Amino acid sequence: MVVKDKLKNLYQLQQVDLKLDGLLEERGDLPAEVEELENKIATLKTQIKENDEYLKKAVVRKKEIDKDLDEVRKRIDKYTEMRIKVKTNREYDALSKQIDNSKEKLQELHKELENIQSKEVVSSKEVDKLRSDFTEEEGVYSSKKVELDELVSLTHDEEKRYLKEREKHAQKVDKQTLARYEMIRKATKGKAVVPVVRRNACGGCYNVLPPQRLMDLRQMEKIFTCDHCGRILVPNEIVEEAARDV
Ligand SMILES: [Zn+2]
Repeated sequence: MVVKDKLKNLYQLQQVDLKLDGLLEERGDLPAEVEELENKIATLKTQIKENDEYLKKAVVRKKEIDKDLDEVRKRIDKYTEMRIKVKTNREYDALSKQIDNSKEKLQELHKELENIQSKEVVSSKEVDKLRSDFTEEEGVYSSKKVELDELVSLTHDEEKRYLKEREKHAQKVDKQTLARYEMIRKATKGKAVVPVVRRNACGGCYNVLPPQRLMDLRQMEKIFTCDHCGRILVPNEIVEEAARDV
């Protein structure tokens, strides 16, 4: 594609992007607010799930501990009974050792149980708080979402038309130039392609362009940018042609 056509499509792309920017601007902070609420709600959901899972696991583990405690207690009783009937010191000592070990185990299990119980209290409180936060945030979210959807639907047809138009011009520009355009647009917060305005100034930053640059521009053999602001410059011929296109 010759540079002239590329410039024209870039300029037209820029014009339609400005219209799209205008539509988005009308929506104000609402889209960002809705997105933030969506993230908040998702985080709360995860936290609630994690707490619920912990509480479920705690119930299972507590049952296991109860069973273990029972077994250990029985073992202690059994060894104690056996110890009464032993005949040798060696047997007596061996059983005493077993009893001591079992008592140690008993203590360990009790400790774990207490630990789980206190964590359960914390987790239950936490989950209650998370649930009430969740309900609250969800309420705010639904009303904001309705508001946003209404706003979007107002300009939906217009937006669709612009997007189609945008696509038409964008696909006529090579990927590399398009990427460059997007980069400049990001850096300049909107305007990446500008015409030459009054007194031979850049239409983006209004700095006067050197005569050589103006001559180069008119040749349309290459894409030129403003030395001051980095925006892509288009000669007036392009602007006029684009205006005739509409
Ligand atoms: Zn400039």
